[in-house]
Amino acid sequence: MRKPIIAGNWKMNKTVEESIALSNGIKRDLFDIDNIEIVLCPPFTSLTDVSDVITDTNISLGAQNMFWETKGAYTGEIAPDMLKHVGCKYVIIGHSERRAYFGETNETVNKKVKTALKEGLLPIMCVGERLEERESQKTFDVISEHVKKGLADIGKKEILSMVIAYEPVWAIGTGKNATPDQAQEVHKFIRDILAKKYGEKISEEIRIQYGGSVKPDNIESLIKEKDIDGALVGGASLKEESFIGIVKKSSEAVKEK
Ligand code: PEP
Repeated sequence: MRKPIIAGNWKMNKTVEESIALSNGIKRDLFDIDNIEIVLCPPFTSLTDVSDVITDTNISLGAQNMFWETKGAYTGEIAPDMLKHVGCKYVIIGHSERRAYFGETNETVNKKVKTALKEGLLPIMCVGERLEERESQKTFDVISEHVKKGLADIGKKEILSMVIAYEPVWAIGTGKNATPDQAQEVHKFIRDILAKKYGEKISEEIRIQYGGSVKPDNIESLIKEKDIDGALVGGASLKEESFIGIVKKSSEAVKEK
């Protein structure tokens, strides 16, 4: 059975002091959760301090981005090895905000995924359609392209180290989450693409998270869906109470799945 994964993407929020306080609170309240993988993705400046807080706990560290080269004259970029050295296990790649504001494409996402895997980081690769694409019935075309191009040249062994995050752009930060049916439909579509490329057995092992306005009061119905294996949480991961609520409710809900 796939172990669900809940990751908090803090985006460009939290000073070092605030990050330490938030991660300490989360650690205190979630120490006994063992059926959900918990990941915190603070900004780069807080990675070292959050890593210290969560060392030897049930919480893993993730970064929000990285560059596809491993070192050199790339002012302002961060290499995968640097992330590993501060304790990162995961790295979010191709978040819609990076695609929208920083020119990331399926091709750059693929380069980053390949480098992350080669350097021993586990990519959380984000895919998702924009509102106008959903409204013009292009959702499945967009998702198919994001998944296939993002995973170009990724082999069977490597895909098992990855998490896919389905994040409809119209649901991110809008308070309007996809319904469980809408999300399940796309998750199943993604799993079918994975099955065609990697075989049924492998596709059943790959975790597909949902992201987009996840809150304590909507996580249960989402995570109960067959192909929804957790959540990538933005806004609600910035407050101790709401992130803890999401993880605890998930933990209970998956016992009945
Ligand atoms: C995200 O940015 O990955 C996200 C899902 O944000 P929010 O939960 O705020 O919609």
